[in-house]
Order: sequence, then structure tokens, then C-alpha cells
Amino acid sequence: MFTSAIIPAAGAGERMGTAVSKQFLTLHGKPIIIHTLERFQLCGAINEILIAIQPSGRRQMELLINEFHLSKVSHIVDGGRRRQDSVSNALSHVHGDADIVVVHDAVRPFVQQKLILAAIEKARTHSAAVVAVRVKDTVKMGNQEGRFERTLDRSVLWAAQTPQAFAKSLLLEAYAKANRENIDATDDSSLVELLNVQPAIVEGSFDNIKITTLDDLDFASVLARRFRD
Ligand code: C5P
Repeated sequence: MFTSAIIPAAGAGERMGTAVSKQFLTLHGKPIIIHTLERFQLCGAINEILIAIQPSGRRQMELLINEFHLSKVSHIVDGGRRRQDSVSNALSHVHGDADIVVVHDAVRPFVQQKLILAAIEKARTHSAAVVAVRVKDTVKMGNQEGRFERTLDRSVLWAAQTPQAFAKSLLLEAYAKANRENIDATDDSSLVELLNVQPAIVEGSFDNIKITTLDDLDFASVLARRFRD
């Protein structure tokens, strides 16, 4: 078994409103992306790590990989315009022996080992697995006129996170279809679902936040202290 991890880290961080890309911002003494990469470096089931980064961040990334001894990083590839372009670029460099590919956002530094392992395990038996949490709020569909049209049934709603793990051949097929048919997606699972595959659900944790705005960074500092203590 050979498992590759793809870490898309090429977002511009526009919603953060800082000059530094959000994954390089410091959280508890280390760049956010280093917290994330260390989780995968320390995971026994991961054989290689591929990072997609904007070309302007490549040198900084190389220095950080050396400084933090991230020996599993096999490739740093250029990111693309959309997240899915960044993942697609990395996917084309995945090791030939890989059977499972795990994709995880660079800006989710609190992912637990047990979730990475559970996603990989379920992908082995179900071809695809997605870490997700049950939706706590009531979710409504709004329209252009600023009114709600209907309320969705919360008992079947989940918020998808990462990691998401897939049989490599399935993920390659999903990305080939997306590229051919110009499909836009905000996660990898949605592309796989278009092949009529139903990914297995791995119930995740509300700590596994995606750091997108400055508010998230404040909350992340609280979480980082909690995990340290
Ligand atoms: O855009 P979003 O906040 O959903 O980003 C999730 C992850 O995808 C982040 O780690 C970000 O760096 C990455 N990303 C990327 N290439 C892009 C856009 C986002 O690698 N073009």
C-alpha cells in the first residue's frame, strides 16, 4: 500500500486581507502550513506529500521544509487559478505506486491523526471517503430577492471538510472528467460524486477548522493553546 497526500496551499488569502498568504501566517510559533504538514509527516500511513504553492512562495516553502525536516515532501508543484487546478497539478506528479491519494487543505492545521487514518481506511474499502461534520444550524435556500424559499432537512446535511481520500484511479478519472467538461468544484468529493460514486462519510471534528479570515486566526490561537495544554 502506498498513500500520497496532496496539500493545496496556493490560495491567495484575499479574505484574510493580509500581505502574507494565509498558510504562511504564524500560529503558535510556526507557520500554519507547518502545523498541517507535520500531521502528515508523523502519520505512519502516509508515504509522500505533494504541496501546491504559488510560484512566489516556493523558495520560502523549500526553506521551511528543510528547517522542519519534512522528509516526506516529494514535490512542490505550482498552484493554479482554482483550488481544483492546484490539486490537479499535484495529482499529475503522484508516485506511480500510489493506490490511495488523500487531499487536505493547508489551512486546516488541527486535523487529527485518527481522522487521516479513518479516511484512508474507508477509501480502501469504499474507493472514496470524506471527513465531514453534521450541520448544527438550520440551513435555508435564499433567492436573488433576498428571501428564503425553503428550509432543508437538517438530519441529512453534513459540512464537508478535508481530509478526503480516494483510490488514485478514481480521483484521476474524476479530474479528467472535470477538465474535459469544464466543471467547477470547491472540493474533490464533488467531482468524484459526478461519476456516480457515493463517498463514505467519516464523522469529523469541529476543531478541524479552515482558517480563512482573521476571526478564524483568533479562534485558531485559542485551539492551539488548548492542544498544547
Ligand atoms: O479557497 P479555500 O479557502 O477553500 O482554500 C482551501 C485550500 O485550497 C487552501 O489551503 C488554499 O491554499 C488552497 N488553494 C489552492 N489553490 C487555489 C485556491 C486555494 O491550493 N487556487
